[in-house]
Amino acid sequence: MPELPEVQSVVNHFKGYLEGQTIKMIKPLNRYHKVFHSISSKELNQKVKHQTIYSLWRRGKYIIMDLDRGHLSIHLRMTGKLQTKINETDQLKHFTAFMQLENGKYLYFKDYRKFGRWYFFNNISNLETKLGCEPLSSNFTRNFLNKGLKQSRGMIKPKLLAQSFIAGLGNIYIDESLWFAGIHPKTKCCNISSIKIKRLHSAIKQILKKAIQYNGTTIINYSPGDDTKGNFSKSLKVFGKQNELCPRCMTSISKIFVGQRGTHFCPSCQRL
Ligand SMILES: [Zn+2]
Repeated sequence: MPELPEVQSVVNHFKGYLEGQTIKMIKPLNRYHKVFHSISSKELNQKVKHQTIYSLWRRGKYIIMDLDRGHLSIHLRMTGKLQTKINETDQLKHFTAFMQLENGKYLYFKDYRKFGRWYFFNNISNLETKLGCEPLSSNFTRNFLNKGLKQSRGMIKPKLLAQSFIAGLGNIYIDESLWFAGIHPKTKCCNISSIKIKRLHSAIKQILKKAIQYNGTTIINYSPGDDTKGNFSKSLKVFGKQNELCPRCMTSISKIFVGQRGTHFCPSCQRL
């Protein structure tokens, strides 16, 4: 599932393609009207037609296009992928929407699992109320993390998954960050020492930045756009590495479930 680095890589990939262009129309494909969430295709077109995309950016895991009036947003969810064209190897049944630009070019939305959505927001505050701190912004200080964790009695992994606390983190980068910081994923937030919180804070920032440089992590479906891949998978230390050896202490990596999410950790470096 695409997380902050993957969504940022999609934005980086399509920035030059979309910014400055004007929307001609948007349509669902395969009669999949649900792709526009609660708004009809007709209503969405009334809102976005002839509007210019003047900025493409990311907030949490949302791709956002700033228009003259309002914002068009795409959430990739599990398997959403953007393409400038339909390739010969593509199966048409996997596409849920497309956008035509006035310059004659297209943006296609391919989505095997069909959970991805396109939203229209009159005001970006509709999103802001749901989303917490951006981990690569100056608001994400050590003090912010320290305060947030000291106040919480829950386990660290679900806390970091909560988009209302920190926006953009998901399974991959949380498992990697907790390994770097030496924190067991089931540790109660308020019991984590300040030294470990300091390590976690810098691990989150460093891992996300490095993953963006590598265009994210492709495990199965994710692509920054068209035929490109994310290359961070080579740098993963624990995620997806169950039964392989911890690169730090050579103990076998374990996989457990924490809040129903598959979680990878080193039982020796990350003790409860
Ligand atoms: Zn280890």
